[in-house]
Amino acid sequence: MSLFRPAIDRIEGYIPGEQPQETGWIKLNTNENPYPPSPQVIAAIQQAASERLNLYPDPLATKFRRQAAPLFGVDPDWILPANGSDENLTILLRSFADANDLVVYPYPSYILYETLADIQGARHARLGLNADWSWNAEICQPLVEQAKLVIVPNPNSPSGNRWTDDEILSLVPPRGILVLDEAYGDFCDQPHRAEILRRPGAERVIITRTFSKSYSLAGIRLGFAIARPELIQGMLKVKDSYNCDTLALAAGTAALADQAWMENNAARIRATRQRLAAQLTALGFQVVPSQANFVWSTHPTISHQTIYEALKRRKILVRFMRFSDVAWAPQSQFNGLRISIGTDPEIDALIAALQQIVPELLRATS
Ligand SMILES: *Cc1c(COP(=O)(O)O)cnc(C)c1O
Repeated sequence: MSLFRPAIDRIEGYIPGEQPQETGWIKLNTNENPYPPSPQVIAAIQQAASERLNLYPDPLATKFRRQAAPLFGVDPDWILPANGSDENLTILLRSFADANDLVVYPYPSYILYETLADIQGARHARLGLNADWSWNAEICQPLVEQAKLVIVPNPNSPSGNRWTDDEILSLVPPRGILVLDEAYGDFCDQPHRAEILRRPGAERVIITRTFSKSYSLAGIRLGFAIARPELIQGMLKVKDSYNCDTLALAAGTAALADQAWMENNAARIRATRQRLAAQLTALGFQVVPSQANFVWSTHPTISHQTIYEALKRRKILVRFMRFSDVAWAPQSQFNGLRISIGTDPEIDALIAALQQIVPELLRATS
């Protein structure tokens, strides 16, 4: 007999990408930033560590919120930091989704949303996307109508495409909340800073952002939500009192203060992304035009799992992803490779490996 809640026994649990703990890997599987964080971040962590670690952190993260707010043209009471944006997603589920409420999200996308809805014991449904990653109104509209919570990553993962603000606003449920997960927002060609929140119809939109990707701080767990103060007020009741620690808040505040560092790295990643997409296309892959720090690529004839394994033998890790019950391929399994943008030498090594692997596998299949 299990002592767990049935909701927990039913789920498998979210499986994060591989995190090898030894060095020597070219790691292109979990969308980390290949460049280090700003030196000002390291200095701020050292400073904070030398001060008052015996005391609890500021439960309201006042300094952090003051630093973040003007970057998005809002007041500090629009900002809620959390222990990674994954914690903000947990806070959102706990704040808005009761057992009979419906939580929906596009599919394929970030599968953690489904796990969190399951843990919360909420009902959930997938908004099946079209083969070109556009919205399928026939599938989506009736579900959005009934939803309490719609969660949309923009740019999407694993595809990397970005939907327009008009498309996003059409997904705000009439009696619920739209969560816009902008984990990859800083990598878009058109920079944007929560302008969508000022559009009519965005009153019930909540944006989440993270330091893990554009600010090179996946090892420091910090993210934040941006929304109207009435919404933030309610979420404050749900969060742990001290959900963000002193070192994370110091790091995040310093990272936000050095915008030039983040923007310079994001620009390098965009340039490398363009180069990688062109090389993959030359090797026969289909590549979705990406606005994020990764590309989604599929090969028409070679098994993606085989390519993934061949790369892994060369100590290059990419993400092999499979999705079942995809709207346009309900009977088969849809799969492909999600490749994070590394440094130029890392991407050169990947391309050189693929230039060997792909012709070999093509010969083997013909
Ligand atoms: C990486 C990622 C996150 C996680 O961010 P953390 O701040 O590291 O928890 C959230 N959403 C999406 C879509 C992501 O890809």
